[in-house]
Amino acid sequence: MALQDALDDAVAVNLAGGTHHAHSDRPQGFCLFNDSVIAARTVQHRGLRNYPLIIDCDVHQGNGSASILQFDATIFTFSIHGQSNFPLHKAVSDIDIGLPDNTSDGQYLAALEEGLNSIKSRFDADCVIYVAGADPYEGDRLGKLALTKSGLLARDRLVFDFCRKYGLPCAVSMAGGYANVVSDIVDIHFQTVKTAHEYFLLNNCSNTVLK
Ligand SMILES: [Zn+2]
Repeated sequence: MALQDALDDAVAVNLAGGTHHAHSDRPQGFCLFNDSVIAARTVQHRGLRNYPLIIDCDVHQGNGSASILQFDATIFTFSIHGQSNFPLHKAVSDIDIGLPDNTSDGQYLAALEEGLNSIKSRFDADCVIYVAGADPYEGDRLGKLALTKSGLLARDRLVFDFCRKYGLPCAVSMAGGYANVVSDIVDIHFQTVKTAHEYFLLNNCSNTVLK
């Protein structure tokens, strides 16, 4: 529903989801079924879009999405994650960026920007599913990276800049977040929602300019 709404409204946010560890035949890592793949294939099946792009910034690799889509050239998977983190055995995304433990804001943002810049020459996307994830946060119990809240804000901005630059509607899902302080998780997710609103709706990025 979020992706379908995004096609009309430029952006839409699912305040849950991002269940990227689910495979086609089994659940994994808190993920029962793979909502990103189902959404992508649903808009294709309905003839609404042909080339969805999944930008997965949850700290854990989107291994379920990557494995389901490994031989599907019509949906592109991009994952930036902690290399030493779960899952132990990584699947193969179209682009994988595996970061070392304790990666900071500057290193993360440079890697993300470089990764995003490399997509366009390989894949002509017509919509984006952004698996946001609050778990690259320095206070996360399972994350192992060291991003601050302002670093995560800059991350969201890079992704939304990418979407706006190429006129791509964007559906956001929340994915993981395991900070000791629950309000930190809420802050990070809310920051993503607020930034999406500012980028797509307050700047009059209407659907008329979108593909
Ligand atoms: Zn995660």
